[in-house]
Amino acid sequence: MTTYLIRNAQILGGAPQDLLLAEGVIQQIGTDLDATADVEIDARGLLVLPGLVDLHTHLRQPGKEEAETVLTGTQAAAMGGFTAVHAMANTTPTADTAEVVEQVHRLALEAGYCDVHPVGAVTVGLEGKEAADWDGMHRSAAAVRVFSDDGKCVDDAVMMRAALEYAKSIDGVVAQHAQEPRLTEGAQMNEGTVSAELGMPGWPAVAEEAVIARDVALAAATGGRLHVCHLSTKGSVEIVRWAKSRGLDVTAEVTPHHLLLTDELVRTGEAVYKVNPPLRTEEDVLALRAALADGTIDAVGTDHAPHPEADKTCAWAVAAMGMVGLETALSVVQQTMVDTGLMNWQGVADRMSHRPARIGRLTGQGRPISVGEPANLVLFDPAYRGTVTPDAFATRSRNTPFKGLDLPGKVHATFLRGTATVLAGALTELGEDA
Ligand SMILES: [Zn+2]
Repeated sequence: MTTYLIRNAQILGGAPQDLLLAEGVIQQIGTDLDATADVEIDARGLLVLPGLVDLHTHLRQPGKEEAETVLTGTQAAAMGGFTAVHAMANTTPTADTAEVVEQVHRLALEAGYCDVHPVGAVTVGLEGKEAADWDGMHRSAAAVRVFSDDGKCVDDAVMMRAALEYAKSIDGVVAQHAQEPRLTEGAQMNEGTVSAELGMPGWPAVAEEAVIARDVALAAATGGRLHVCHLSTKGSVEIVRWAKSRGLDVTAEVTPHHLLLTDELVRTGEAVYKVNPPLRTEEDVLALRAALADGTIDAVGTDHAPHPEADKTCAWAVAAMGMVGLETALSVVQQTMVDTGLMNWQGVADRMSHRPARIGRLTGQGRPISVGEPANLVLFDPAYRGTVTPDAFATRSRNTPFKGLDLPGKVHATFLRGTATVLAGALTELGEDA
């Protein structure tokens, strides 16, 4: 296995130090290390962060390979600095059996670019009627611990209560896509002044907040762990803050796009801005940033949602919802949270690695950067300035709302248990290194 000596890198933004990676772990850390390695990396000006962990990725395989595969999605993850992602269950077939989650898990192992933890569906076919085979998925080789019908809301309170109770029995978590279905029928964008002016059916904030409030009550009643997916409104933040103040085990994530963009962009008519939950208002964006900074929101979840070009370049009303996000997440977080002074790099490591790993109960990820720990690391250049160019993406899809934007920062290298998945800003060929 190739060994790496990283010279003069700043761990979480601290003073320059050297790191020696060998046998999959961090062997030494220090200044002017007297060591040799197969590859020496001059990392002056680069940060070292723990490998990022995403609780919310759509890899599309099986069933929608024209949008993404486990291989291309995990390559995109590596390019974004991720060493572990959770793959959502809304594939075709749905990940509601041991067979499907084991297939996704196996494909990721074969690809080798990033750990993939399949999320198990709460209900069969995400139809909200019949419980999926939770225990079969948990006991499978994929060892599922996160359950979600993401894309759809588990709106049946009896089902949600049962899922929370099961999750409690295995120290798992239910990740809810909070969307009251009746309040969002036909919804195309955030409900507010912009939707009124455009005459488009709106997705009201209360449709998210009402479900979160109910689920917090169900989590309190069952003792099960609740994770709120892609929280997007100021009111949702207040409910999660209240839940935490009561000592409930409720966690939440925010997407990069909800930290940066607002519903004003819908005026362009470009469906690349169509997403679920929708882009909200400036007031919501500022509340989300403050909540991520103070820890009310635990994690950044990309909700990386690749779509074929035809599904996003069509008319708004019929376009698919969702955006790719793995390769731009860290840059958006730098721009919205670090460069604004709201958070330092230790905070970024906490919200993008430590806490999401803890929520998913991943034991080898989200670890401190210290000697003896698994070498899951990112080398990141925060001084880089560049324009987002979708054609350079590793993801198979191009539906980014950040196209043409100047965003700060660039992933220089990613290490998964000591194996470089990205070096000098480019994917490595795996197989020879391992
Ligand atoms: Zn969702």
